[in-house]
Amino acid sequence: MPHESVFKKIFRKVKDLAGLYDSPEGVLILMYHRVNDNLPAHNLVTRTKAFAEQMRFLYRHPNVCQVISLREFETGHPAVFGQDPKTKVIITFDDGYRDNYLNAFPVLRKFGFPAAVFLTTGLIGTDQKFNRYADIPGRDMLGWEEIAEMYANRISFGAHTVSHPHLPKFSYQTQREEIAQSRARVNKNLPQGERLDTFCYPYGEYNADTLKIIRELGFRYALSVIPGVNKPDTPLHELRRIEVSGFDNIKNFKYKLLERYK
Ligand SMILES: [Zn+2]
Repeated sequence: MPHESVFKKIFRKVKDLAGLYDSPEGVLILMYHRVNDNLPAHNLVTRTKAFAEQMRFLYRHPNVCQVISLREFETGHPAVFGQDPKTKVIITFDDGYRDNYLNAFPVLRKFGFPAAVFLTTGLIGTDQKFNRYADIPGRDMLGWEEIAEMYANRISFGAHTVSHPHLPKFSYQTQREEIAQSRARVNKNLPQGERLDTFCYPYGEYNADTLKIIRELGFRYALSVIPGVNKPDTPLHELRRIEVSGFDNIKNFKYKLLERYK
């Protein structure tokens, strides 16, 4: 447990007891991409120190906002909405960057938090990179050994397509291959165990074909980038997410978590 002064601790307890955090009712799904200290400032790049500070806030306020795994949400829906505390938080990462293993995973382990990572499977375990990160030296995406180690420590993995396309620009057949092959790859390469029933749309983009495909393939849930808090009646294939930006300081983080989506 990180150091905290006695006065700060007392103040925090009083604040909790007094119910001064009037957090929103529902499930907040946080969206991260990278946790990295070497890249230029960007909304997709959270610094390790900032990420640790955000996780520490969650760790210290389990009675205000409780971190649950995506799997607990999947299996507990919709009963999870009626349970205390009224605010549940799920931590997600898109794309499958190696810095999730190097920088985010140690912090998650320290606080004992589960998280879910959505893999662009065509890049995983290869030296290929997203175009925008082409200049990064060395391997930039997760390898399957790193994924196995994370999987053994409360990190779940899901499909995010093979090549990260703008799905609505493609035919039904191409979309179906991207989604089905990505999931098959994730499931084949993970150790035996629970599989996520959740898909994650690249760029948050989908059309009627995409929705049809994920229903046909039996995904019970899918993550959009529509901001908001999930309620019992939120469409299951258009779950809301809250982007934590690399420009968010702890004050902004708390605002997004506790105030903005009430
Ligand atoms: Zn993505």
